Amino acid sequence: MCAKKIAVLTSGGDAPGMNAAVRAVVRTAIDEGFEVYGVMRGYNGLLKNDFVPMNIRSVSDTIHKGGTSLYTARSPEFNSPEGVAKAAKNCMDNDIYGVVVIGGDGSFRGARDLSNAGVPCIAIPGTIDNDITSSDYTIGFDTAMNTVVDMVDRLRDTTESHDRCSVVEVMGRRCGDIALYTGIATGATAILVPEVPYDIEKDVIARIKSSSATGKKHFIVIVAEGVGGVEEISKRIEAETGIESRPSILGHVQRGGSPTLRDRLIASQMGYKAVKLLKEGKSNRVVVMQNSEIIDLDITEALNVKRKFDVDLFNASKVLSN
Ligand code: ADP
Repeated sequence: MCAKKIAVLTSGGDAPGMNAAVRAVVRTAIDEGFEVYGVMRGYNGLLKNDFVPMNIRSVSDTIHKGGTSLYTARSPEFNSPEGVAKAAKNCMDNDIYGVVVIGGDGSFRGARDLSNAGVPCIAIPGTIDNDITSSDYTIGFDTAMNTVVDMVDRLRDTTESHDRCSVVEVMGRRCGDIALYTGIATGATAILVPEVPYDIEKDVIARIKSSSATGKKHFIVIVAEGVGGVEEISKRIEAETGIESRPSILGHVQRGGSPTLRDRLIASQMGYKAVKLLKEGKSNRVVVMQNSEIIDLDITEALNVKRKFDVDLFNASKVLSN
């Protein structure tokens, strides 16, 4: 009897650790007796029959690499009932039994639709933003935060030398986790996140003035992407405090780089688990981390989980950065 075939793809925004997840999927699949294929460029590869056979060695020398060796894409064509039907037909015509999808919540919606069209899918959260509500952790988050800390430490050197204020925008889309965690780790005087409304006078200017009154001469303000406006915030600080202020948008550099131990490890655990679920005949599941455990949930239920923001940690940050 021929081995069952499964496929793996990376979709949406890339994240460091996606390669480690693909590697785990490929090697676990082979160990479980599946034939395994890489799908190039996300859902576009399903629409174009772009399946590449993978073996144990295809994923050698990838665990430490950022980005995704399967490439990734956003696929407007897939995001329609016709697109999903075409992708499902291509899978069936190629005898692909199931697909592991590594990506963000947009990619999960695609995996749900493909599962409903008859191709069992298992999703893995891969995004630097940590914005998957059902999972305490998403692959890439730790690496991105370490990059931010490194960049802000560098900015701090020059900020300190000139008695300036640096207003730094970090990624995270509508999620303030990167800003909150890195703001604490870099000793930011103010942290602005989309989850908590802010008042520039009270939450930024007054904090800088009171720290200044106790002798502090240089300042870091971390602003989440979902808040934005670093130019205006910087101008306002300079106008109201007299402290020279510079805006910086860190941008896509936060997406790159060799994944940290945490990202390699969690990606490996999630990739392993995803294939085990396919082997058990499961479909429409997402692998998530909850309370340090790797578990699986129904994708539709997972997409309905409401976002939790760590308000206690946010309040703590205000005390720590006085
Ligand atoms: P991410 O997975 O990082 O959140 P996107 O939101 O861009 O990134 O989604 C990646 C791809 O997933 C999209 O280009 C599209 O092909 C597919 N997708 C997104 N939303 C849906 C949806 N509601 N139904 C089906 N497919 C979707």
